[in-house]
Amino acid sequence: AYQNGHLTTGFGINSVGKIPLGLKRKGLRIVVTGGAGFVGSHLVDRLISRGDSVIVVDNFFTGRKENVMHHFGNPRFELIRHDVVEPLLLEVDQIYHLACPASPVHYKHNPVKTIISFFFTNVVGTLNMLGLAKRVGARFLLTSTSEVYGDPLQHPQVETYWGNVNPIGVRSCYDEGKRTAETLTMDYHRGAGVEVRIARIFNTYGPRMCIDDGRVVSNFVAQALRKEPLTVYGDGKQTRSFQFVSDLVEGLMRLMEGEHVGPFNLGNPGEFTMLELAQVVQETIDPNAKIEFRPNTEDDPHKRKPDISKAKEQLGWEPKVPLRKGLPMMVSDFRQRIFGDHKEDSS
Ligand code: NAD
Ligand code: UDP
Ligand code: UDP
Repeated sequence: AYQNGHLTTGFGINSVGKIPLGLKRKGLRIVVTGGAGFVGSHLVDRLISRGDSVIVVDNFFTGRKENVMHHFGNPRFELIRHDVVEPLLLEVDQIYHLACPASPVHYKHNPVKTIISFFFTNVVGTLNMLGLAKRVGARFLLTSTSEVYGDPLQHPQVETYWGNVNPIGVRSCYDEGKRTAETLTMDYHRGAGVEVRIARIFNTYGPRMCIDDGRVVSNFVAQALRKEPLTVYGDGKQTRSFQFVSDLVEGLMRLMEGEHVGPFNLGNPGEFTMLELAQVVQETIDPNAKIEFRPNTEDDPHKRKPDISKAKEQLGWEPKVPLRKGLPMMVSDFRQRIFGDHKEDSS
């Protein structure tokens, strides 16, 4: 049941102050913006099981209540429907800022108004959360993206690389939005002394991913399960490096708790062409799944692979789950969500 009756009372008038540093582990008050989304909900699970109090702030643009529903009724969990473009008053110790319309379907195909609202979320939304962090002295973590490297001329990508982003391309609203968010984050750090952390996340997959958000792993898995052909864009020789969500969450938490600002690449260095990925999906789900080639989108990065030396050295972090181990865990979740509904329909 949806037991959030206390939700509105928690909003705005939260009176629990900052927990002294020495007591940090005893239970922090943590905001996760975008916490009803794919990555956010897994992060929330870890924070709650660690003993922290978590406030999820989400406007459900792509997030779903189902992703966090298992925490309803837990007094250490709150869910607030709120758009981060609007100011937000809370008293917290840490802010994980994940809210962002991240799905490629939206930014590649939507009307201009929607695209502008993406930019607003990244710019005004990030500004608001930084303002909040400044006011209450909270530590702020930005989930940036490997897309800040654009179509990279350096391979693999190191954090010191400034990137090769087309400012007027079809995916620029996302890339430039995140680049601006990084800029604001560092400005608040330097100018206002806000404690900040920046993660540059590389392609991540796992259970609870949006089924129809157009990302390659979710597309291929859903297509193979539905007995549809796998749609490979372009010649399929472009590469990506796929990280399982639990590895990312571990990296985000280490980054937040550690002493280093970053930016840090968080990704799995295992690099695959899209054709190789299609093959792994075939092996995992259906060896007879067909492949269909489609024209690629403009400005599609040709290759992407994180150099994670910095995260290894300074955070003691590296991914543990290879694609062939992680994919089956995502497949069982997708199978349940795709066919679970079907069964209900037909019964
Ligand atoms: P997601 O779409 O599942 O989650 C984003 C969440 O933000 C959703 O719950 C959505 O409803 C919420 N949201 C969007 N706009 C909002 C707004 N204005 N106010 C409040 N909430 C809002 O995507 P995800 O994959 O979980 O991504 C989480 C973060 O990680 C994003 O910032 C994304 O850019 C970053 N990231 C993800 C990947 C990846 O491969 N998954 C790669 C690079 C960066
Ligand atoms: N803000 C917020 N919650 C807070 C504090 C600030 O949402 O607890 C917003 C505020 O509305 C502003 C932004 O964060 O739009 C930046 O705040 P800051 O104090 O840095 O700038 P100022 O309000 O002085 O322009
Ligand atoms: N892609 C594909 N088939 C699909 C969806 C995507 O071949 O059904 C390709 C896409 O062109 C890109 C790569 O997969 O080269 C990764 O795309 P995604 O949108 O998942 O992530 P991003 O481009 O943001 O890294």
